[in-house]
Amino acid sequence: MNLGQRKIDWVSRYMPLLNSIEAEYASRKPLSGFRVGMSIHLEAKTAYLALLIKELGAEVFITGSNPLSTQDDVAEALRENGLNVFAKHTSDEAVYMSGIYSVLEAKPNLILDDGADLTVTAHTQMPQILQTLRGVTEETTTGLRRLRALHNQGKLRVPVIAVNDAFTKHLFDNRYGTGQSTWDSIMRNTNLSIAGKTVVVAGYGWCGKGVAMRARGLGARVIVTEVDAIKALEAVMDGFEVMQMKDAAIVGDIFVTVTGNTSVISVEEFMQMKDGAILANSGHFNVEIDVKALQHLSVEKFQARPNVEGYVLPNGRTVFLLAEGRLVNLAAADGHPVEIMDLSFAVQAMSLIYLSANLLEPDVYPVPAQIDEKVAKMKLQAMNIKIDELSVEQKRYLESY
Ligand code: NAD
Ligand code: SAH
Repeated sequence: MNLGQRKIDWVSRYMPLLNSIEAEYASRKPLSGFRVGMSIHLEAKTAYLALLIKELGAEVFITGSNPLSTQDDVAEALRENGLNVFAKHTSDEAVYMSGIYSVLEAKPNLILDDGADLTVTAHTQMPQILQTLRGVTEETTTGLRRLRALHNQGKLRVPVIAVNDAFTKHLFDNRYGTGQSTWDSIMRNTNLSIAGKTVVVAGYGWCGKGVAMRARGLGARVIVTEVDAIKALEAVMDGFEVMQMKDAAIVGDIFVTVTGNTSVISVEEFMQMKDGAILANSGHFNVEIDVKALQHLSVEKFQARPNVEGYVLPNGRTVFLLAEGRLVNLAAADGHPVEIMDLSFAVQAMSLIYLSANLLEPDVYPVPAQIDEKVAKMKLQAMNIKIDELSVEQKRYLESY
């Protein structure tokens, strides 16, 4: 058995929600006759989701959603299981995009996207495939931002289910998933102590809250930077220091960007940083830390450790960039913990089943509340946790004025 299959077998033990969706739906084959195109980080948890989608009756065409997060042994195991796999671990953007085109050439009628590369490419470069596309489920914050921008310009031609916005997704995946896996990756790649460090977290959204919370738990002094007054105030009230990035740049030892924005750390800040400062992005794409500007500015670049590149600045100091500035938890580690992805992917699977049964107009739709509630109940049941129920008297009381 290859290592990829062993990795899939390992996660299958800890994904009870996907297992119970299989038990409930596999005999009915709700996705029978559908070609499902997937672009998502291709590692073991995703592979297990792809196998479930096949079990539900679909033909699956899959590629990665980031050039560096594909694990080739897992991709190979999926090929051996009869899926059409186009992903390859690569630093080459053109190779990454060829996987996106290959999935679209298969004319999927359902798309599962993470970051919206499949859906945006279909709209901008291959509009002919939209005629047979019934709908899209989008995994992440930035993907939804892009698809909402497409919709606001009147160009969205398919219905999109906003998986990221389900409570059972972002409250756990973005917060606890990013919180744990970002530090897992920074620690395993640098072998440095977090205790005693000054950590700067850019962005106090769902991911930023998790990253800041776990940094504090590991013993760091934590500084938050924000552009939103309410989020900044929330960070202050949660006990973090809040300041501008230009000031944080001077004192930080480790910087983590989780904003979904571009050029959050750039030349002015690089030049202020301490010798040995560590730079990691756990948000979207490789633009939050301005990698191009860093390359241009540096007088020398060297490989310090696997996934760690040293950039020598004109002032003689060196800063270290992790995972080429791509999201550090996936490009240089295994991504979110298994049980977290079980929750997110249960929402994905239920949303695909929903799209297969409902014809919708082009728009961005929330995940139906009954799916969110069902996934939460399934998770509590899997954890063997029982909760109270409202009595008739309590319901009546709550409905009274
Ligand atoms: P969010 O919208 O909840 O939070 C983003 C925050 O960043 C907002 O509070 C915003 O005000 C702030 N921000 C924007 N520009 C800023 C700037 N220049 N400086 C400081 N703060 C700024 O989004 P989220 O759900 O936390 O997601 C953040 C990013 O992480 C997205 O790109 C998302 O796709 C990605 N994401 C990554 C993972 C992962 O596995 N690494 C998981 C989930 C989401
Ligand atoms: N294409 C973008 C994707 C953003 S990734 C990029 O590479 O920058 C953010 C999403 O990755 C999150 O919403 C989360 O649900 C997903 N994710 C995190 N860990 C994962 C894992 N182990 N396997 C698959 N997806 C994962």
